[in-house]
Amino acid sequence: MTKTMKAAVLHKIKDRLVIEDVAIPEPGHGDILIKVKACGVCHSDLHALEGDWSPLPNLPLIPGHEVAGHVAAIGPGVQGFQIGDAVGVPWMYSSCGACEFCLAGMETICKSGEATGYSKPGGYAEYMVASAAFVGKLPADADFFELAPILCAGVTTYRGLKRTGARPGQWVAVLGIGGLGHIAVQYARAMGLRVAAVDVADDKLALAKSLGAEVLVNGAQEDAVAAIQSKIGGAHAAVVTAVASKAFEQAILMLRPAGTVAYIGLPGGKSDEIRTSIAAITNWELSIRGSNVGTRADLHEALDFAANGLVRAKIRTAPLSQINAIFDEMRQGKIVGRVVLDLSQGAT
Ligand code: NAD
Ligand code: ZN
Ligand code: ZN
Repeated sequence: MTKTMKAAVLHKIKDRLVIEDVAIPEPGHGDILIKVKACGVCHSDLHALEGDWSPLPNLPLIPGHEVAGHVAAIGPGVQGFQIGDAVGVPWMYSSCGACEFCLAGMETICKSGEATGYSKPGGYAEYMVASAAFVGKLPADADFFELAPILCAGVTTYRGLKRTGARPGQWVAVLGIGGLGHIAVQYARAMGLRVAAVDVADDKLALAKSLGAEVLVNGAQEDAVAAIQSKIGGAHAAVVTAVASKAFEQAILMLRPAGTVAYIGLPGGKSDEIRTSIAAITNWELSIRGSNVGTRADLHEALDFAANGLVRAKIRTAPLSQINAIFDEMRQGKIVGRVVLDLSQGAT
């Protein structure tokens, strides 16, 4: 094995990533080394390099948390893995396993958790180290490029939908039909929900329609709240994956009485605040819930949906060398579906 690998590295917040030769990491106790094949480009990676969130990521940073690859080496103390196993690495790199939240099956809100591609090096590289206890096992014959987005976009929207408590036959409004949103539409359909899709771009709405959304609303062209209230009488549930605070404000007002909205998007920075109507929430007994990626159990379930063909990311593959151009496209809202980096070709 060579001792160095290609990786895309962020040295300073707001800088462009630099493709560099860096040392292949060694797996420590409980870790596995993964030869990365595919890594999705999530909008959270863009937030990381823009410095939109607090705390800031650890620099220098190798981003990437939608990873699919094969086990290349196994650290001490790891059981249940063999060289060559197909694995996926999510955002949740690890949690402490001992706090009140971990013990309650709420490891997503462990205060000692580490984040792949944020506090720990991620998958914009030929190799990465992951904590064996937190990786997902993938079917050996899976399409790793289509499966990679399930590691974040998939598990996150699956959990978000569950946290709304929506039941089969009910309406869910999905606000933001990007990398996360187009997968949310598919989980919602697979869970028996009816989908109203809201975005500000017609090509995203066309994708939502092709995936089973029955109602399409372009919030840049019409009053999205009025449209949802008049077309379906308000949504029983909503999930917000948009990157604009306005959508978070609108989602509350799109609900039916007793409805629940799950906030998933994290616009951050100056867009981190909303204004809303206290009366609307109180009088109509609305619920607003946050939803942060997913537990390991959520991940296993989310991967099962994909393995059974119920959910399939619409992807475009690209080499690591194009990463800065991909972020430019993402800033402009031009990506339809998800871009997945192909690391099997090195960095070319
Ligand atoms: P993306 O760029 O692929 O998609 C964002 C979508 O929002 C685009 O389709 C865009 O057109 C749409 N949009 C923008 N303004 C809108 C508006 N006013 N109304 C409706 N839609 C609007 O991004 P992504 O990768 O899907 O990520 C979305 C957000 O989710 C990001 O903020 C990301 O950081 C966050 N995220 C959160 C979690 C979590 O655990 N909570 C996990 C992953 C990603
Ligand atoms: Zn993500
Ligand atoms: Zn914990």
